[in-house]
Amino acid sequence: MRKPLMAGNWKMNKTVSESVSIVKALKGTVDGVSDVEILICPAFTALYEVNNEIKGSNINLGAQNLFWEAKGAFTGEISTAMIRDAGCSYVIVGHSERRQYFGETDEIVNKKIKAALAADIVPIVCVGETLKEREGNVTFSVIEKQVRDDLADITLQQASLTVIAYEPVWAIGTGKTATPDQAQEVHFFIRKIYAQMYKESAEKVRILYGGSINPGNVSDLMKKSDIDGGLVGGASLEAESFIKLIKYSK
Ligand code: PEP
Repeated sequence: MRKPLMAGNWKMNKTVSESVSIVKALKGTVDGVSDVEILICPAFTALYEVNNEIKGSNINLGAQNLFWEAKGAFTGEISTAMIRDAGCSYVIVGHSERRQYFGETDEIVNKKIKAALAADIVPIVCVGETLKEREGNVTFSVIEKQVRDDLADITLQQASLTVIAYEPVWAIGTGKTATPDQAQEVHFFIRKIYAQMYKESAEKVRILYGGSINPGNVSDLMKKSDIDGGLVGGASLEAESFIKLIKYSK
């Protein structure tokens, strides 16, 4: 059985004090939740304080990015040791916004995944097609290439720790969600490709859906057999809506 993971990606939102106040609101309300793993990914600047606030709770901490080198003259970059030190056990890698605005290629994503795994940080690897690719009927070949290239040279043991997020680019921040059937079709396909690479852990790997998840659509998405949680942007920015996602009805 795969334990669902509900991950909030706060992107470039929230100051330190705003981040801490959401966490305070979350903490009290989700402390009995054990059937869903809870993760928040605040901005780098808020990680340390948020980590202090969640200590001893069932809320996990993740970063939104990392750089693969260990240290040195890389102005503006953050290493795995730094995010670990700030309390992160997860990191988002290859988000479509990073691919789109910061030129991240599958080769870069692969380096970041390897660096995260080498530091015992679980990478959440984002893949997904653009609207043009979906309309051009190349969704499956795009996804297959991303999965294969992003996970290139990753061992079975490492791959079994990795989380994949299917995030159709056309659904991110647009209010347009993939239908549960559309999402399931791609999740099933991702698990199939993953199984060709890592047969032994294909039933174990968690595949999250991301793209305008909200309290109104979460239950129907989560009913699908290959959807193991959500990577949530907008609806994770307020404690009230994120709590509803964490406590979605089964
Ligand atoms: C995301 O940031 O990964 C995301 C899916 O955003 P949203 O939920 O706002 O579409």
